[in-house]
Amino acid sequence: MALIVHKYGGTSMGSTERIRNVARRVAKWHKAGHQMVVVPSAMSGETNRLLALAKELQPAQLGKAYGRELDMLAATGEQASSALLAIALQAEGIDAVSYAGWQVAIKTNDAYTKARIESIDDARVRADLAAGKVVIVTGFQGVDPDGNITTLGRGGSDTSAVAVAAAMKAAECLIYTDVDGVYTTDPRVVPEAKRLERVSFEEMLEMASMGSKVLQIRSVEFAGKYKVPLRVLSSFTPWDIDLNEEASSGTLITFEEDEDMERAVVSGIAFNRDEAKVSVLGVPDKPGIAYQILGAVAAANVEVDVIIQNLSKDGKTDFSFTVHRNDFQKTLDLLKGQVLPALGAADVVGDNRICKVSIVGIGMRSHVGVASRMFKCLSDDGINIQMISTSEIKTSVVIDEKYMELAVRALHREFDLDQTADTISK
Ligand code: ADP
Ligand code: ASP
Ligand code: MG
Repeated sequence: MALIVHKYGGTSMGSTERIRNVARRVAKWHKAGHQMVVVPSAMSGETNRLLALAKELQPAQLGKAYGRELDMLAATGEQASSALLAIALQAEGIDAVSYAGWQVAIKTNDAYTKARIESIDDARVRADLAAGKVVIVTGFQGVDPDGNITTLGRGGSDTSAVAVAAAMKAAECLIYTDVDGVYTTDPRVVPEAKRLERVSFEEMLEMASMGSKVLQIRSVEFAGKYKVPLRVLSSFTPWDIDLNEEASSGTLITFEEDEDMERAVVSGIAFNRDEAKVSVLGVPDKPGIAYQILGAVAAANVEVDVIIQNLSKDGKTDFSFTVHRNDFQKTLDLLKGQVLPALGAADVVGDNRICKVSIVGIGMRSHVGVASRMFKCLSDDGINIQMISTSEIKTSVVIDEKYMELAVRALHREFDLDQTADTISK
C-alpha cells in the first residue's frame, strides 16, 4: 500500500462522462489498497471562459485588486470539478471528500495569478486518508497570508499535484493527460513525434521552460527539488486496464542518467509562441547600458528571456531582448517613456510575431557541433535566425513565427527523432 497522487488535466475532466471514468480509475487504485489524493484541473475551457468574462468588464487600472478578483474567479473552475469528482466517486461507493486550496491549506505568497506555493499543511488530508477516504484537492490554487484565494499561473494544477506529493512524501505522482506521455516534440504539431519512455529531470526542466506545455515548469522544479517520482500518462486508456500495466505506461521523469539516455544527442524540441522581441536602437556603447535598460524593465516586474547586444559602430549599439507577449506593450511604453530619453537612444522598436525554437538533450554535453548542425538545418530551409541562446543542454533560436512549424519539423528530422506514424500510440 502506498500514498499515490493522481492529477487529471482539463480534457480528462472535460465532461461528466470523463469525470465518471476518472472516478472509476481512482476507485480501482483505491481498491488495490493505495491511499489516494487526486488533484483535478477545471473542466476544459472553463478557466478560459471565466477569464474572458473578466476581460469584458476589465478595469482601466490593472492593479492588485483586479488580480485578486481574477483568482477568486478562476479558482471556481477547480472547485466545481473537484466536487464533481467527489460526487462521482461517491456514486461508485467510495468515501470521498474534496477540499479547496485554502481548506487544506496550500499556502502561497500574494502574487495573484502567478502565486508560488510556500507550504502545505497536510494534517487534514492525512486524517481523511487514515479514515479510508479518497481525498480530492483542487489544482491551481492556494491561499495567501491574508486569507485571499490565489492561483498558480496557467497550467498550475501540475504544480499543485507535485507540491502535494512532495509535502506528503507520496510514493509517486502520476500526471494523467490527453497524450500518453512526453514526446520528442508536441505530437499535435509533428505527428511523427515519438513518446519517450524516460526523460531525465534536467531535460524535462529545459523542455518545460522552453515552452513544452505538457508540464508546467514549476511542477518540474518541485519534482527536482524534492525528488518526487513523476510520470506522465494517458487518461484515455480504458479505466479498467491492469493497474500494473497502467502504472508503468507513459513517460517516467528520471533523476539518474543512464547510458541509453546519453546516446541521444537531442532528446526533444520545444517551441514557444508566447514571446515578443524589443530592440533599443542606437544606444551609446558605454558601461551601465544593459543595466539601465534591463533594470527599468525588471523594476516593472517584467521577466526578460533571450538578450543580445550587437557590435558597436561609431560608439553606438543595438540592444535586443525578449519578454512575454503579455508584457510587450508595457515594455515598449516604458522604454519609450523613460529609458529612451534618459539614454539618448535613437529608437525603440518591437516585434511580437516571433517564436523561440529549442533543441534539448543531455547528449549535447558530450557532442560538439550540435548547434551548428541546427543552424545549417534552418538555413537549408531559408529560415533566418534573429537571436540565439544556449545552455549546456539546450540551444534556442528566435525566428519569425511563420516558420515555426517548418523549423520544428525540419529539426525533428535532422536529429533523427521521427518515427513511422503507425507506431505512435495515443
Ligand atoms: P492538461 O489539461 O492535461 O494539463 P495540457 O494541454 O496542459 O494538458 O498538456 C498536454 C498537451 O501538451 C498535449 O495535448 C500536447 O499537445 C502538449 N505538448 C506540448 N509539448 C509536448 C510534448 N513534448 N509531449 C507531449 N505533449 C506535449
Ligand atoms: N485550469 C487551469 C488552467 O487552465 C490550471 C490547469 O489546468 O492546470 O490553466
Ligand atoms: Mg496542463
